[in-house]
Amino acid sequence: SQPLLEVKNLKVSFHTYAGEVQAVRGVDFTLDAGKTMAIVGESGSGKTVTSKAVMGLIASPPGEVKKESSILFEGTDILRFTEKQWQDYRGKDAAMIFQDPMTSLDPTMKIGRQIMESIVEHQKVGKREAMQRAVELLKKVDIPNPDERVHQYPYEFSGGMRQRVVIAIALACNPKLMIADEPTTALDVTIQAQIIGLLKEIQKANNTSVIMITHDLGVVAGMADTIAVMYAGCIVEYGNVFDIFNAPQHPYTNALLNAVPRLNVENKAQLEVIPGTPPDLISPPKGCGFATRCKYCMEICRQAPPEYTEVSDTHKAACWLHHPMAREAFDYDDIRR
Ligand code: SF4
Repeated sequence: SQPLLEVKNLKVSFHTYAGEVQAVRGVDFTLDAGKTMAIVGESGSGKTVTSKAVMGLIASPPGEVKKESSILFEGTDILRFTEKQWQDYRGKDAAMIFQDPMTSLDPTMKIGRQIMESIVEHQKVGKREAMQRAVELLKKVDIPNPDERVHQYPYEFSGGMRQRVVIAIALACNPKLMIADEPTTALDVTIQAQIIGLLKEIQKANNTSVIMITHDLGVVAGMADTIAVMYAGCIVEYGNVFDIFNAPQHPYTNALLNAVPRLNVENKAQLEVIPGTPPDLISPPKGCGFATRCKYCMEICRQAPPEYTEVSDTHKAACWLHHPMAREAFDYDDIRR
């Protein structure tokens, strides 16, 4: 069957005084209806830019989605949309939840009215019915006493509660696709788990597809079906949750996994951090983007970009270590240790 979303050869640049920053450098993935994909990477890896492109939120200028890119939503290339079509799409098909709920809430407006406005804008319902729906939506995201809460302002809500309100607004138009960009980063660990649990419930109940953007692999373990690991504007590894957590095939994924805090690690300083910084995307390296930080870097890595190796039907990675000739030099099992 047709996937809900098909991203092909996505390339996004930003034109700056210093030069053209190639933020996303040829990204491909598909997402089926009702599935959750996580895009994991450090800041500057291109994960947020990718998701903004899917929402049509790359401002041009300075942003530019390259002509050779395509993003098919139910088979239609949304990159060819008119502004009106984008608005309809963002109202009905796709919604985005940002990291800091305060940026998406209007501090001067009561919560109920904010939810109502988004309902009235996209659906033909009267105000009274919209208010009724606002209360129901707050109930759906587990906000206690929704009848009273609709009359309150954002500052009267805790951080976690505000993020629930933002999710309620995203749900107002019953989108087929929900993109959550680091939705829990600003929250403490217990609240994080609750919000992830809530997203999961909603996703199941409505058969919504979710793209979860995060720098923390630990956050997505219980939620994602597939994971795309991004580095320096490219997907370096793609697989299902089992593939990524149990059989990672890219040194960067490995490093990320080692950086996931474990409950039994009390001293955070013990966590492995990845030394070095990502490459400058104004003049991206001609070889592997991870070469300067990779302890397995070989001469070929600096010379030419690694192609994807299909590890299995569900799993691929772009690393020269998978080349038959590299295998002679390295025992890959060493890397996984
Ligand atoms: Fe490391 Fe080379 Fe693989 Fe890049 S291609 S991740 S530098 S081994």
